[in-house]
Amino acid sequence: MPAVPAHAQIVVIGGGIIGCSTAYHLAKLGRTDVVLVERNKLTSGSTWHAAGLVGQLRTSANITQLLKYSVELYDALEEETGQATGWKMNGGLRLACNAERLLEIRRQATTAHSFGLPMELLSPREARDLWPVMDVSDVIGAAFLPTDGQVSPSDLALALAKGARMRGVTIVEDCPVTAITQQSGRVTGVVTTEGTIVADIVVNCGGQWARQIGALAGVNVPLVSVQHQYLITEPIAGIPRSLPTLRDPDRLIYFKEEVGGLVMGGYEPNPLPWADYGIPDRFHFQLLDDNWEHFEPLMEQAIARVPALQSAGIKQLINGPESFTPDGNWMIGEAPELAGFFVGAGFNAFGIASAGGAGRALAEWIAGGEPPMDLWPVDIRRFGAPHRSTGWVRTRTMEAYAKHYTLAFPFEEYKSGRPSRVSPLYEQLKAAGACFGEKLGWERANWFAPKGVAPRDEYTYGRQNWFAHVGDEHRACRESAALFDQSSFAKFMLVGSGAAKALDWICANHVTKAPGTLTYTQMLNSRGGIECDLTAARLSDDAFYLVTGTGFATHDFDWIRRNIPGDCAATLVDVTSAYAVLALMGPRAREVLAPVCEGGAEAIDNAALSFMRWKDLSIAGVPVRAQRVTYVGELGWELHVAVEFASRLFDALLEAGKPHGLKLAGYRAIESLRLEKGYRAWGSDIGPDHTPLEAGLGWAAKLKSGTDFLGRIALEAQGERPLKKRLACFVVDDPAVILLGRETIFRDGRQAGWLTSAGWGYTVNANIGYGYVRDPDGVSDAMLASGAYELEVANERVRCAVHTSALVDPASARIKG
Ligand SMILES: Cc1cc2nc3c(=O)[nH]c(=O)nc-3n(C[C@H](O)[C@H](O)[C@H](O)COP(=O)(O)OP(=O)(O)OC[C@H]3O[C@@H](n4cnc5c(N)ncnc54)[C@H](O)[C@@H]3O)c2cc1C
Repeated sequence: MPAVPAHAQIVVIGGGIIGCSTAYHLAKLGRTDVVLVERNKLTSGSTWHAAGLVGQLRTSANITQLLKYSVELYDALEEETGQATGWKMNGGLRLACNAERLLEIRRQATTAHSFGLPMELLSPREARDLWPVMDVSDVIGAAFLPTDGQVSPSDLALALAKGARMRGVTIVEDCPVTAITQQSGRVTGVVTTEGTIVADIVVNCGGQWARQIGALAGVNVPLVSVQHQYLITEPIAGIPRSLPTLRDPDRLIYFKEEVGGLVMGGYEPNPLPWADYGIPDRFHFQLLDDNWEHFEPLMEQAIARVPALQSAGIKQLINGPESFTPDGNWMIGEAPELAGFFVGAGFNAFGIASAGGAGRALAEWIAGGEPPMDLWPVDIRRFGAPHRSTGWVRTRTMEAYAKHYTLAFPFEEYKSGRPSRVSPLYEQLKAAGACFGEKLGWERANWFAPKGVAPRDEYTYGRQNWFAHVGDEHRACRESAALFDQSSFAKFMLVGSGAAKALDWICANHVTKAPGTLTYTQMLNSRGGIECDLTAARLSDDAFYLVTGTGFATHDFDWIRRNIPGDCAATLVDVTSAYAVLALMGPRAREVLAPVCEGGAEAIDNAALSFMRWKDLSIAGVPVRAQRVTYVGELGWELHVAVEFASRLFDALLEAGKPHGLKLAGYRAIESLRLEKGYRAWGSDIGPDHTPLEAGLGWAAKLKSGTDFLGRIALEAQGERPLKKRLACFVVDDPAVILLGRETIFRDGRQAGWLTSAGWGYTVNANIGYGYVRDPDGVSDAMLASGAYELEVANERVRCAVHTSALVDPASARIKG
């Protein structure tokens, strides 16, 4: 008799903590026809040798909520299953040893408050009262999160496995998966050494093996193995069992109590990758050779912090491999390459802390057919073309690992693996002084250094070195004209006799107007949440050109393709690499363009090309599709041009712009300009958790038409009730205050939300932030506009003004030219 059932609704691959948690939560949702297959024994991968710290605070509200849920689950699991977990809510302490770090932890405390975590700031003496064996002579402040804790990782995983079994899940050990079967783009099961299981859904929770398991299915799982070491000491006098976990990021180290001694580990600036050529067979319940030489700098830091370590007995140095990712975050979700194949992997040494929430979110995604909430920071679809190269992934991942504890400055860019993808204008932009940032591998000009200034970011928590230069670019755009290279935009064609019908269904706005039109639209999920935010140009009866943000290429493509109704003959093609985009924007943009445009001023006046229309033009002899649209709130065009013409178009526009003060401008100016104009940014201001009604974008949903569209039912239902949250704009005039996002919103002294995005507006000369004001009883227009608002910034309250319309050009007279 075969050891595995011939059929299961869901197969989970991997019996580490993530596989166990996913199976447990699937069962809790009533999905009990689940088989978990583990190649060796439960926990034999990375889980058994984890240190077990459980921290909760992340930079995303939803991921923090998931980690908070982990804590609630770990608190109750022993009682539920009868299996001890070693869970202890002893709190987490974080130290600051310099002014920038102190500011960082002050901002982290505010983020914690925004997300509902009770993080408090402590003096060095108070910190030492909690952690008596440390030297605090260099500590200038600390933050304490009393609900953090620690756990015994293997026991916790086994408790989750027991809870899953108790609910009907089958767990089969010593059962490696050797192949994934599929048909017509959908997974159909797994082949194991113990037999084949036909399944509707397969979940890859293979830890550091997840990349090779994904490869069996043609699915890219961008993670690599990295060595991670920690030390376990014999008991040390003066260490209470209640000792909180401790993170000392300035020394790159962390601690937790264990049997009266300490566990101490850290994040070296020169991490060591492992298994470059594949993980050896039969690597289970194994450690790597300890590497004292590599660990020594961390050890020195630890002794300086805890002098008793000098003479403490050392039980063991653990060197365990763990999977890390290029951006330090884990990944979950249905693979864009293969329907029914899910991934939950790449846990970057916080898989124990994440497991409860990650397993729940993954199970809900599987059971519900779409993400249960905005999971964008951990969505597998945030990756794309560059992540297909293991070499690139490894290079970038080493940098991300090394940054684990370094100061996370605002606007900080990765340095490694660059340049990866460049616009055809890259060399010209570089010669013009561009300081580049990177998005999904694309090099994009963030700002331009004037002559004599190095095009280099200098990071600080204060105003950074580019501040004034971005101001010049911003003002050029508002007062004369600016040229932006936006070639990295993701661009798709939807073609076929059913394309219009498909977009009628997928888009919330009416995009199937006559050829020549351009429509700004959202695409909604069944909850009415915004999955995509883009513009659609109707090229002909059966062809649409869709333009969306650089970073959303994989996600949006997946969303659109997945939602094309089965009876619509429509094919989606990614044409990103075919076109460069130059955005010419500003009140004098027409004067710049007219002399080089065939047909002169008449070809581009409002009669010939009005707002939200597109037209083919010949500019300096170059064929261009001019789209009359803007994300900066000015008169202008996005000029879409075949890449081979881009360079010539660029030169011609720069030359034509000289008499009009045209300036090259970058993405930081775009951000400042769009904040003033109130344009929403997907991924921060809007996303799957926010509906157009809540975001003030109800005008872009075709609710008055009779056309059915995805999300309509939810939106209509929401429209009948008071909205529980509404996006508003907040302004702080004081230039000494710096808003970065995640600051807490207070209304009449009561916490009401947090900022989703923020920055400086150079025209209004003030800090601008956007955030949802929340109230379970409803947020009316009158309520939103009234009340005394404050923001908590770096743990201090500042007064702010609230606005419900755009700060610049609320009537949109400028963009209509
Ligand atoms: C030294 C160290 C310290 C750490 N400390 C902490 C900490 O303090 N806090 C924290 O939150 N996290 C910590 N972690 C991270 C944590 O251990 C991991 O994030 C977590 O264990 C990952 O769980 P997983 O289920 O994804 O992977 P794994 O535990 O590796 O599970 C994957 C499983 O898949 C199985 N598998 C692989 N291939 C196949 C196949 N073909 N068929 C069937 N099964 C297969 C493997 O055998 C394995 O059991 C630490 C990690 C290390 C290395």
